[in-house]
Amino acid sequence: MIEALFDEIIKTCSPVAKSGEVASYIPALQDVDPFQFGISVADNHGKIYSAGDSDVRFSIQSISKVFIFTCALIDSGVSRVLERVSIEPTSDSFNSIISLELKNSGKPLNPMINAGAIACLALIAGESSQEKVRRVLAIARDVSGNRMVDIDENVYLSEKITDSRNRALAYYMKSTGIIAGDVETLLDAYFRICSIRMDCLDLAKTALLYAGNGMSHYSGGQVFCADIARLVKATMPMCGMYDESGRVAASVGLPTKSGVGGGILSIVPEHRAGVHGMNGAMGIGIYGPALNAKGSSIAGLNALEMFSQRLKLSIF
Ligand code: GLN
Repeated sequence: MIEALFDEIIKTCSPVAKSGEVASYIPALQDVDPFQFGISVADNHGKIYSAGDSDVRFSIQSISKVFIFTCALIDSGVSRVLERVSIEPTSDSFNSIISLELKNSGKPLNPMINAGAIACLALIAGESSQEKVRRVLAIARDVSGNRMVDIDENVYLSEKITDSRNRALAYYMKSTGIIAGDVETLLDAYFRICSIRMDCLDLAKTALLYAGNGMSHYSGGQVFCADIARLVKATMPMCGMYDESGRVAASVGLPTKSGVGGGILSIVPEHRAGVHGMNGAMGIGIYGPALNAKGSSIAGLNALEMFSQRLKLSIF
């Protein structure tokens, strides 16, 4: 059933890439083939379904905000994190600076936009960029169950050299006291973490772990506590797709996070068990580097909508 649906999705959705564009503001992201398209689903009975370019590794970019938020919550606790970042939606783009000054007294509106992730990085254990990166990379490897997850040095350097917007956001937050310490250290960690490389299956397994509230379906171990998993998941329908989160909540209806590298991670929670006639909780990972105007994979989002609607997965 899933295999046939995947065939249909690939046929229908991958041509949609024609109307999108790969991210060009990070020069290294321009070099990818915009027509790559892959999808993987992992369910809580250990079944894995993959199609297309599901084993191509790409930089996860903003999907790393899920790991950064998770790590900050583990290392600093919920109340300290929520002192520095709200969990409210934003109607602005992921790298917007306007809300920082106008809407929330210098405090980022949520951890799924750039300002929020940079603020969370200050709350992750370690003084140096290397220590913070090691910490987040360890979480990324634990949640995906893949020790080979690493950093694309080329993408990291490309963003570090060219990026002015995130510098502006970070220095602004330093001026308002939201972040303390060395701004360049946090930015270096941010650029490296955005450049973490994964494939669709890594994303699907990661999503499955959040679906299972931090409990790994593979090792049986609790990677982080259920309260943290719930908090991270709750922010995603409101904030995970930036200023199209509302539309995606309506059309997909699942906690979802995208990145400008073209990846999408989407979580089908446990309580959907039975509704789709499959095996309950699922994790979905999709890759298609051509983006829509909001910075999410254009073919990938089409595919996710089709998958969710066909299997009636919406949590709403
Ligand atoms: N590294 C990217 C940036 O900061 C991440 C943005 C994204 O994936 N939406 O601009």
